[in-house]
Amino acid sequence: MWRATVFTLFPEMFPGPLGISLSGAGLARELWSIEIRDIRAHGQGRHRAVDDMPAGGGPGMVIRADVLAASLDAGLDEADRRPRVLLSPRGAPFTQARARALAAGEGAVLICARFEGVDERIVAARGLEEVSIGDFVLSGGEIAAMAVCDACVRLLPGVMGEQSSGIEESFEAGLLEYPHYTRPREWEGRAIPDVLLSGDHAKIKAWREAAALKVTRERRPDLLKRTGSEIKDQAKHR
Ligand code: SAH
Repeated sequence: MWRATVFTLFPEMFPGPLGISLSGAGLARELWSIEIRDIRAHGQGRHRAVDDMPAGGGPGMVIRADVLAASLDAGLDEADRRPRVLLSPRGAPFTQARARALAAGEGAVLICARFEGVDERIVAARGLEEVSIGDFVLSGGEIAAMAVCDACVRLLPGVMGEQSSGIEESFEAGLLEYPHYTRPREWEGRAIPDVLLSGDHAKIKAWREAAALKVTRERRPDLLKRTGSEIKDQAKHR
């Protein structure tokens, strides 16, 4: 079973949205599991302090390396081979490819920081991998951990009703997805593109490929550059 272990100062936030809909049904059917570890259980003193002032001064507080290490060491088996992901705006951008790779493994350890972040020394000392969910700053790692977890869990075998719906999606081919339509056929004077109602599957496929390429060129040309020749070749032959 795919296992997520989350280290957080706010255990009550979980499973939260992960307990609902696709991921929640998967959880109930034991297609994956989530274990929550309260970092504060390893805090210091009567107040279970987990943070301290930044060395060198400046605003905010920093999560202590010794406290986080104690929490990680108590919560994880030495033989645990799962990637240890520290959610951080300074991390490598999270991608669909990374979600696929994580989903193909045994699970993930997700470490949520708060305040200004964690003492830098913990990263090397416990082999953490920093991952960012985008170029913006959240107030804590929990929502980021949920996003990473959700992206992985929906890829697990049996979680999504129709497996093929995972293959054609945005990013899977280095492209954004083509647009979708459903009934009614005409709505507020706007019609569904004729080709989609033609029943001609080859034509529909070609239309969707062209639409995906067009929207990607317009909105995310960086994706085309990133995937390089393969996509350009497809475009040339059109
Ligand atoms: N001072 C830090 C921001 C701290 S935000 C900086 O400028 O880089 C508090 C915590 O929220 C972070 O330590 C991280 O765990 C989480 N977080 C904030 N933004 C995030 C993002 N874009 N991706 C992943 N985690 C994020």
